Amino acid sequence: MRAQNTHQNWQNWAGTAHASPARTLWLASEQKVAGLVRAEAERGGRVRVAGAGHSFSPAAATDGVLLHLDRLDELQWVGPAAADGSRLVRVGAGIRLHALNRLLAEQGLALENLGDIDAQTIAGAVSTGTHGTGARMRGLADQVHAVRMVDATGEVVEADRQHRSDLFEMARLGLGSVGVLTAVTLRCVPAFTLSAREEPRPLGQVLEALEDPDGPVWGNDHFEFYCFPYTDIALTKANNRDGDAPAMSKWRRSIDDEVLSNGLFEVTNRLCTAVPALTPKVNKVAARALSARSYSAASDEVFVTPRRVRFREMEYAIPFEALVPALRAVNSWVRHTREAVPFPIEVRFAAADDMWLSTAQGRQTAYVAVHQYHRLPYARYFRAVEDIMRGHEGRPHWGKMHRRKAEDLAPAYPQFADAQRVRAEADPQGLFANEYTDRVFGPVR
Ligand SMILES: Cc1cc2nc3c(=O)[nH]c(=O)nc-3n(C[C@H](O)[C@H](O)[C@H](O)COP(=O)(O)OP(=O)(O)OC[C@H]3O[C@@H](n4cnc5c(N)ncnc54)[C@H](O)[C@@H]3O)c2cc1C
Repeated sequence: MRAQNTHQNWQNWAGTAHASPARTLWLASEQKVAGLVRAEAERGGRVRVAGAGHSFSPAAATDGVLLHLDRLDELQWVGPAAADGSRLVRVGAGIRLHALNRLLAEQGLALENLGDIDAQTIAGAVSTGTHGTGARMRGLADQVHAVRMVDATGEVVEADRQHRSDLFEMARLGLGSVGVLTAVTLRCVPAFTLSAREEPRPLGQVLEALEDPDGPVWGNDHFEFYCFPYTDIALTKANNRDGDAPAMSKWRRSIDDEVLSNGLFEVTNRLCTAVPALTPKVNKVAARALSARSYSAASDEVFVTPRRVRFREMEYAIPFEALVPALRAVNSWVRHTREAVPFPIEVRFAAADDMWLSTAQGRQTAYVAVHQYHRLPYARYFRAVEDIMRGHEGRPHWGKMHRRKAEDLAPAYPQFADAQRVRAEADPQGLFANEYTDRVFGPVR
């Protein structure tokens, strides 16, 4: 046990969640986690694990014991290769994605899909349903083959699709509400290179081609776009496994990203904060300044972009076919209200999956993410977008900002009652509960 501090305050990356845990502990072994959980269960305490604090929602916040498991970060074993070259790999649950990507590369392996950043822990990322993009791709939790965790009695248990499958469902994507994950077994694919093509295109053209089998959404392995409010331009990003883009050095790409996505972007955001009325003009100039580029690199380097400009975010998963009306409604709300929104709206895609609490459960999905610079007001914008997305059967990302509660989330997920039942059976005392899990799943005690 490295440290124990009775007054160590916690806050997340975005500064949108704060907590004053009764105790903060850094535990380096599963046995210590089990001992701590047993002791807290006996005294009726509460335990939460903080991953990397990259959720915008107060998912990890607690006034009980806050655990950091950064030292549970080892590669535990690598299984034999399956016919398609994939292998099962077990890692400590506290490992950060960037460290995991490095370890996997050393084994000639990779995760088949990733989100925008690699700062998260694997346990934190899967617990909130973190996803990347790709109309035929699924989120990170779908790559979880098995979990090892400490349950509410302090026992170490293992679960997978065959063995304790209900518990597995909630353990791999359930906000840490059924136990403390100590290790995760992932299905990994042979390491691969991605060819990336980024280019600005007319938004209307992108939206018209959504259903086209050879269009950008279905004709690329991974496709996403960013549209700047007040403009008709979409910055499109397409990543493919068999492309022929030239290799771009990490150094060159990071200069581009640092100057354009971070340095200059910070300046334009500050300008819009100082003079909000300038936002439409600034966005038009920013969108015109976008240029095309192609490059190739190891998959994780292409998926991930450094994000140094602080922002707040809300993201909704909606049925694929609702994307056009939903996006039009958001853009017209911004134009109508003249809201200062210098951040582009991000649109991504995912295949339907079968995970109980996945935002893509049971339906081909489009994700619409709205961001706001941290110095600008966000509440009115996010409320308006949330109302629009609710009108399109939207499901909020569990790790991003939203105002939904258990009673209105229940109709959005066919297996919500199963999730509540398994949570109640696994943790009848609410040892792993916090205000957020009580809000989104309902109180357990
Ligand atoms: C800049 C930025 C970019 C992002 N990009 C994307 C993206 O591209 N796609 C996307 O889907 N999301 C994205 N997110 C959201 C992010 O991936 C999720 O919020 C993720 O959960 C954060 O992981 P974390 O390790 O920081 O976990 P935390 O936010 O610290 O915790 C998340 C949840 O996991 C639980 N948890 C953590 N560890 C354990 C454990 N060992 N056992 C049990 N429960 C545990 C916590 O208690 C909490 O409920 C982004 C966030 C930021 C700030």
